[in-house]
Amino acid sequence: VLPDLKDKVALITGAGSGIGRAAAMMLAQQGMKVCLADLKDDRREQTKQDIIAAGGQAITVDVDVSNPNRVAQAFEQTVKTWERLDVVFANAGINGVLAPIEDMKPEDWDHTLFVNLKGTFLCVKHAIPYMKEGGGSIVITSSINGSRSFSGFGMTAYSTSKAGQVAFTKMAALELARYKIRVNAICPGSIKTNIGENTLPTSELEKIKIPVNYPQGSQPLDHAPGVPEQVADLVAFLASNASSHITGTELFIDGAESLL
Ligand code: NAD
Repeated sequence: VLPDLKDKVALITGAGSGIGRAAAMMLAQQGMKVCLADLKDDRREQTKQDIIAAGGQAITVDVDVSNPNRVAQAFEQTVKTWERLDVVFANAGINGVLAPIEDMKPEDWDHTLFVNLKGTFLCVKHAIPYMKEGGGSIVITSSINGSRSFSGFGMTAYSTSKAGQVAFTKMAALELARYKIRVNAICPGSIKTNIGENTLPTSELEKIKIPVNYPQGSQPLDHAPGVPEQVADLVAFLASNASSHITGTELFIDGAESLL
């Protein structure tokens, strides 16, 4: 239990599924008012219903994190409703198209970078005006893929976006320290979520039998992928004052998968 989170306000992107959904449920359980941002209507609404059914408070916003206006509106709406902003979980992300570099279409590369990296930048940019007076915590979902790969070839765009998020986290932590805004990245290993649904392997990858089924990692700690609730615990810790001296870090949460 993290009592300082009670009655504070969080915006969570990708809150309709997987890690974002679990984190939203966890933060709501701590007494936070949560804004659930996602581009999938049904999943976003489901998370809201589940939070309300459990006694929590939630609103939803329809957001594509790569769209500057929509992101700006999401923050506006959150603060209009709850009158403050304390925590941002910039988590929405996609695997995108997986392809060998020589076959990767520039527009597919751009799409992955737009959602994962530009989306992160936009969420931080539009949060600052609302957080700079009172401070707060920003958590960014990167991946162990930002520094090494366990998914075979084809993930250069994804991994580049995830590495970019870590660099962005460090620079943002330095820049925003003056406002008492902490910024940290989490780097999950394989976690059982729906991320595979939107993975778009190319025929070239299938031909050369590169594994593309992302959440299948073998993790020494449990011999199985992690679950979103385990990541949610880390997000709650980073959101709360329990981590008040931690900023600009990348925290691995992977059952030692990255050490194999
Ligand atoms: P998921 O597919 O279960 O959930 C992602 C959510 O983000 C979905 O609800 C989706 O609708 C939403 N989303 C996608 N694009 C969006 C956009 N442009 N704007 C707004 N919302 C959007 O996947 P997940 O595994 O929970 O992924 C969450 C984050 O975790 C991602 O950044 C992913 O890269 C990262 N991650 C996942 C794993 C894993 O093994 N699952 C490992 C490391 C990192």
